[in-house]
Amino acid sequence: MSLLPEKTVERLSQYRRTLLKIPAQEKLYIYSHEIAAILHFTPVQVRRDLMLIGCTGSQRKGYDIANLIKLIGEIIDSKNGQNVALIGVGNLGRAIMRYLNKKNSNLRIVAAFDINPDKVNRELAGVNCHHIDDLLEILKREKITIGVICVPADQALPVADSLVKSGVKGILNFTTATLNVSDEVFLEEYDMITSLEKVAYFSKKR
Ligand code: NAD
Repeated sequence: MSLLPEKTVERLSQYRRTLLKIPAQEKLYIYSHEIAAILHFTPVQVRRDLMLIGCTGSQRKGYDIANLIKLIGEIIDSKNGQNVALIGVGNLGRAIMRYLNKKNSNLRIVAAFDINPDKVNRELAGVNCHHIDDLLEILKREKITIGVICVPADQALPVADSLVKSGVKGILNFTTATLNVSDEVFLEEYDMITSLEKVAYFSKKR
């Protein structure tokens, strides 16, 4: 299958989380318009996304929920999961580690990195924290393919460079620094300020 559009992948993740909340004893099938109503999408959008992953529901019953969850998993997940490293174990970094590792996900934060001697060589939020100088060695050893950057913005660039040199294939950047990485690495930037300012703009117009 060719690479899916980024927005489709985002929606597939949302579909799966929505479907996982539906108890099997309550419902086995779901229509595209029901998924659409929960997530505020259009039924056409949902059908188009699911068609892209080769899923067509029955007109009479809709989509088989268990099948759909399995199919989305086969698309999004990796067979043996992916190991994640988090860099910058401050307020945000710790919150993310607690949140993600509580979930039964096939993405696991298996190592954290910092420069603060009070944090290095300690277990923080259930994850071993190493010195950033040991990044390459630990990433190779733990077969880590994704890096999450939670350092101060002025440190984001060197940290991203080190992650790329250590062979990660994906980076999630929580800082306000805009990063450039090679096409070999998928970069996602999450800027909370932009999201909040968007809300502020539209709330002002209501
Ligand atoms: P923080 O100061 O609490 O934590 C930053 C951590 O990074 C510290 O533990 C520090 O020792 C470590 N660090 C600094 N340089 C490093 C380096 N070169 N290598 C490894 N570790 C290094 O900051 P925070 O509030 O957790 O925010 C982290 C980043 O996320 C910032 O860029 C901030 O703008 C952004 N952010 C924070 C929030 C939030 O709610 N706190 C929300 C959105 C974005």
